[in-house]
Amino acid sequence: MNKPLLRIRLETAQDVVAARRRARELAAGLGFSPLDQTRIASAVSEIARNAFEYAGGGEVAFALEGERPREALAVQVRDLEAVLDGTYRSPGGMGLGITGSRRLMDRFEIHSSARGTTVTMARDLPHERSEASGPELERIVRELAARSPQEGAHGDSLEELQQQNRELVTALDELRERQEELSRLTQELEATNRGVVALYAELDERAEELRRADMMKTRFLSNMSHELRTPLSSIRALANLLLNRLDGDLSVEQERQVKLILSSAESLGETVNDLLDLAKIEAGKTEVVPAWFAAADLFAALRTMLAPLLDTPDVTLEFGSTAGLPQLYTDEPKLTQILRNFVSNALKYTERGQIRVGAQCMPGDGDEARITFFVADTGIGIAPEHHQIIFEEFSQVQNRLQQRVKGTGLGLPLCRKLAALLGGEVGVESEPGVGSTFRLNVPVRLATSIEDEPETLGNASP
Ligand code: ADP
Repeated sequence: MNKPLLRIRLETAQDVVAARRRARELAAGLGFSPLDQTRIASAVSEIARNAFEYAGGGEVAFALEGERPREALAVQVRDLEAVLDGTYRSPGGMGLGITGSRRLMDRFEIHSSARGTTVTMARDLPHERSEASGPELERIVRELAARSPQEGAHGDSLEELQQQNRELVTALDELRERQEELSRLTQELEATNRGVVALYAELDERAEELRRADMMKTRFLSNMSHELRTPLSSIRALANLLLNRLDGDLSVEQERQVKLILSSAESLGETVNDLLDLAKIEAGKTEVVPAWFAAADLFAALRTMLAPLLDTPDVTLEFGSTAGLPQLYTDEPKLTQILRNFVSNALKYTERGQIRVGAQCMPGDGDEARITFFVADTGIGIAPEHHQIIFEEFSQVQNRLQQRVKGTGLGLPLCRKLAALLGGEVGVESEPGVGSTFRLNVPVRLATSIEDEPETLGNASP
């Protein structure tokens, strides 16, 4: 929607000066910045001068264009004389003013026909002032219109020239400031760029160092573990030989000492195994071999494996029902390893009460179903600030049982890595003095490219 504001006829050179002045006054009234006022005034005066010089005259019309808050000051310059006397000049012949004016405004259009040329241009109102275009605008327009059209036209053009000069000086000053600011910014940017490049180079170097260190660690761990395994199995075999009296009788004291050697070798063997497992996972050399099996079989195997570790009548080990649990397609030995670790920890840190092992299935769409295994104990519990750290390598929480139990702080980190291999995760809920519940959540069906069909196994739920 256009709201006409003012019209000025271009009949004399003075009218061009008047059009320029009106354009600036109107722009000031509409809240344009001084720089924008100069822009608008210059564009209007250039195009008005063209109309006057090339077509012998015309008309400048100012209007308010568009709806709030997106209003613009629109200016239309028509060369009326061309219409009257039929002379038509191509826009190209209208001088350099057009190119410059086009840059000064937001929109700029030239329409030429045999009936003349019309230049329509507009500049968007500054956002912060666009709401002032109500009563205040009416007042400005009234004031400008009240002045006789001749007043500006025949006014002091020397004064307008001085005003133009002042504007030019201000514009040049501003330009110089901007140039200085720009060169300062460019310098700053260059310095920052150099810094960023240096930082990236350092980061690359560090990443490479870390990769090398990690590789060395993995290689060292797996080599050492291999080196340790052979002598350890010799120690175990020899200790068993002695205990079985194959090399003659032992005194009570000798038997006690050999048993100590055997149990130390066994616990060292476990640590070596955990280290080797971790190193293998980290080196990406652990293969996941999924197969179909039933949760009931898994629990039965765990019970057989763990019952001998239960050495106090104050603690019971219970397995929940597996009724309703689906067939699982995953790596059974790895799943067993994780749960065995949970239970053996629970046994270590529970003095009385019970340890419950169970599972719950969360249905999902097709392959999305997941199963959560849990091992809940009534042991000493773990303070909340240690819930994260216990899954880090070699971290053990100091508690009154820690001295008595064997361990290296490798069990839970291994569980975490094994769980990730099975597409799952581990977690803990625990309260000191109440007990802990360790959970393992895995997909019921491990995603792989090839798998055999479960039907061959029949229904596994007990
Ligand atoms: P390790 O048992 O060899 O010390 P883990 O990684 O298996 O190493 O466990 C890390 C630590 O987490 C243990 O040293 C112990 O402090 C704590 N923890 C693990 N399981 C339990 C549990 N069921 N109850 C209380 N504390 C536990």
